[in-house]
This record gives sequence, structure tokens and C-alpha cells, in this order.
Amino acid sequence: MRDDVAHKAVKCPVCAAAMTQRNPDWWHVCGACGMQASTLQPAFDDTPMEEMFDWEQRETAFAPLRQANAEKLLDRLEKVAPPPARLLDVGCAEGWFVQAACARGYEVQGLEPDERMARKADKTLNIRAGFFPDALGRAEGFDIIVFNDVFEHLPDVRAAMRACEKHLAPKGILVINFPNALGGIYRLSCVAARLGFSGPFRRMWQQDYPSPHLTYFTPATLLTLAESAGLGEKCRFALPAMEPAELWARIRCDRSRSLAYSIAAWTSVMGAMPLLAMMPSDISVQMFAKTARNGPARRRKKNPEVS
Ligand SMILES: [Zn+2]
Repeated sequence: MRDDVAHKAVKCPVCAAAMTQRNPDWWHVCGACGMQASTLQPAFDDTPMEEMFDWEQRETAFAPLRQANAEKLLDRLEKVAPPPARLLDVGCAEGWFVQAACARGYEVQGLEPDERMARKADKTLNIRAGFFPDALGRAEGFDIIVFNDVFEHLPDVRAAMRACEKHLAPKGILVINFPNALGGIYRLSCVAARLGFSGPFRRMWQQDYPSPHLTYFTPATLLTLAESAGLGEKCRFALPAMEPAELWARIRCDRSRSLAYSIAAWTSVMGAMPLLAMMPSDISVQMFAKTARNGPARRRKKNPEVS
């Protein structure tokens, strides 16, 4: 069991105000800007991942939606930054997005901090083991930097955003695909936690996973952080967060869950579907571009492209 740093004052990574500690005690919310963060501790080396999940079930559960979403994301990216272009995929895991981007004609470099995962990748893919940005050369530059479900796991998002600006070419594009704190599933999990059922909320933060979520952004808080590093918004859009047909496999891939819990979870989520359909998706994508350095701050678009 990891030791959670729960009683330390936490500074908001977006606006630097002191955050308020909530229940559970590792959850912190900024009263000034609404940013949410956790003091959960990553435990890459001592969590037996092989025992936690049924990997085959997990692949069945996540692969189809993940691949469909990758293609939708690439459709949008091609309009903003067409191939060929140098693309860095940070936290690329076994390289599913690297492969999809290569197929579109991008020149792709994958970066994966978990060496076991990097070793599992197809050897024909260009994947390097290491952390962002330490594993990059000082002058190494990219036209596109992509974070797919990775940014919320980083311990220092301000430093990461500055590093993105530094490693992007002059007209470079940063793509962040992240769990949206305004998403229906997340907000319903907050309500359930207040009623005493904190399981879904803890799951949304990936508590007790090897690499839990350390931040929970909304599109507005992510934009504020990007602007502080000299990046402006190009567009934002949502991707579907769940396919009802895959829900059972998703619930069952976590071996710690009993059959009774799984049935209760499946019934609750299916029952909430009509409500979820009216709320924002839990997966949000934002694209940012470098603004002119030392020049006048570019005015924020009133209505960035939204769909
Ligand atoms: Zn704040």
C-alpha cells in the first residue's frame, strides 16, 4: 500500500493559490480557478500490475474505442498540421497511437517511461524508453507533441507545459487528450462519493493504480496553464468516453472486483446512460499552438472551434 501525502499544503498548479483539502484527504480543489489535484503517489516499481488486471479482458475492453478515437483525433490533426511532420507521442505505451500516426504518414517518435511496456512494443516502431522531457536531447524539436491520457499523470504540469513550448517547432502543435472534470461520469462519481459510495470516484482518479491521476483539468483550466507557457488554443473537441457494448469487459478487467460489485456497477452505469447523454463527454481534446515569443500576447479567440 502506498503512503499518500495527505496533510501537506498543496499549491494550485494553474494559478498558485492554496488548494482546499477535501474528502478523500488526497483530493484538493482550488477555490480560485476550480483546478483539481491529488497527492496520490505513483508506485511504478512495487505494484504487481500483472496481478491487478486481466490483460486480455482489458485489451478487449479498451482497444476498439481507443482505436476509433485515435482515428478521429488524427482526422482533426491532419487539418491543423498535415503529414509529413515530426510527431512526438509522450507516454506511448506499446505504441498503438505511434502505429496509427505512422500509417497517416507522420514521422513518429514514441516515448514510454515504463521500460517493460516499451520492451513489449513492436520493434519496427520508433519507441524510446524514458521520461518527458528528460529523455529528449536539448535541441530535439517536433512539429507536434501528443499526450494521450498521459498529461494527468505528470507530477509537474507547469514544467511539462514549458518543456512542450521549448521542444515545439515555431508553428508547432501541442495535442492533449485528457479526462475532463466537467464530464458526466466524473461528475456523477462525485455525487456518489458525497452519498457515501466513493468507489467510482476513487476509480476515476485511478487510486491504487501504479500511476494514479495527479490532476483533473477542465478545458478552461488547461487553457490557462497553456497560456502561461506561451501557447494559445487552436481548437477543442470531445471524444466518446464509453461504448455500452464494452462496459462489462471494462468493469471485469479489474480482478479486485467481485461479481456482485460488477453487476451493481454495470446496472448503475446503464441506468445513468440517458443522463450521461445530456452531459459533456469525459474525454476532451485540446490543441494548442505556440504564440509569438516576447511579442504582444495574442488575443484569445472568443469562440475556439468547438464540437
Ligand atoms: Zn487555481
